[in-house]
Amino acid sequence: MTVSAEAKPVARDIPAARATEISKIDLYIFTYPMIGVGGGGIDMPGVKSERTRMAVSIETKDGAIGAYVGGQANSFAQASACARAIIGMDCFAREVAYERIRRQLRKEDRMGAGVIDIALWDLAGQRLGASVTQLLGGTRKRLKAYASTWFGGDDGGLASPEAYAEFAEECYDLGYRGFKMHGWTDGGTRRDGDAVRLLGKRVGGRMDLMHDAACHFRTFADALAVGRACDEAGFYWYEDPYSDGGLAAHAHRRLREMIKTPLLLGEHVRGLESMATLTLADGTDFVRADPDFDIGITGTMKIAHFAEALGLDVELHAPGPAHRHCMAAIRNTNYYELSMVGPSRGNFNAPVYLCDYSDALDDVGEDGCFPVPEGPGLGVTYDWDYIRKNAVSHVCIQ
Ligand SMILES: [Mg+2]
Repeated sequence: MTVSAEAKPVARDIPAARATEISKIDLYIFTYPMIGVGGGGIDMPGVKSERTRMAVSIETKDGAIGAYVGGQANSFAQASACARAIIGMDCFAREVAYERIRRQLRKEDRMGAGVIDIALWDLAGQRLGASVTQLLGGTRKRLKAYASTWFGGDDGGLASPEAYAEFAEECYDLGYRGFKMHGWTDGGTRRDGDAVRLLGKRVGGRMDLMHDAACHFRTFADALAVGRACDEAGFYWYEDPYSDGGLAAHAHRRLREMIKTPLLLGEHVRGLESMATLTLADGTDFVRADPDFDIGITGTMKIAHFAEALGLDVELHAPGPAHRHCMAAIRNTNYYELSMVGPSRGNFNAPVYLCDYSDALDDVGEDGCFPVPEGPGLGVTYDWDYIRKNAVSHVCIQ
């Protein structure tokens, strides 16, 4: 069989060896409004606030472009350093980029690396005409989701255990079969324990229930008290309970010996090696990964395969197109996290899609699932006019 030179997807006026060279990277921080969310992520009807995100586009010499919107704006300097580390590289050399970025950010938490790696995956997909799911070998088309709430407040929104139970029932009616409460942020445990027990009574058996203290409880004893409430209510997992930051393997191994509910730690543990260390020290039952936080899709799939090797499940943190493609290609995972949501309908996710992609609470399917985007790369189209119009920082590296 002969292969025609015409079949190669390379612009005619660029030598093939240089066509896939990364020639330009644009990085932005932009702002967008949130209504219904107060300071500290508390569900508050009518309150207006503002949130920031990063946006990145990577271009090759032959004009292919990969893009991603996500990450944390305060990792902008790290992302810029990553961009400088990979400029001039072959856009398909993601493993080399991963190694180069890891070394470049060896003294940092590497939170800025994810957006760069994810844009490289989008670029590869755009150039090859394949979705990221296809590149990863995945086949899943719909992802079972849990509703993951904002934090509790003192008035309106999620201001009482009853409000959480009512919102869980609302989510059930929308189609969700999983519900995670982020409780109150004052360090007290009474209302959290009451809400856990009430959720068990009202929707237990119909929904898988999770509690995420996001490290707000102050002591091990507080973590144990709410963990025992989770046991009573038959919770699915108990996440980052107290102020060790979700890092202390010894304490969580002890906690696991005292309660029945599985623990989920790792949201604040960065990258493959650290997650492996925590897991092998018996600090968690579920493994955690986030493409934004753990060096992109490349880093997330390494963590997923580490968990697979141990026979454990990996649960992806937060929603997003990269998260959906990873989940579509991971067997050992259970739920898509549709965060952050509440009765006030605050929009956590940036309004940057020109396509029908959405991570809004009400867009869940009747089957309780969200779709995996189809089409090349991440399968989404970004509104660059909105991003540029609302940009507060921009660097262009070429
Ligand atoms: Mg969490």
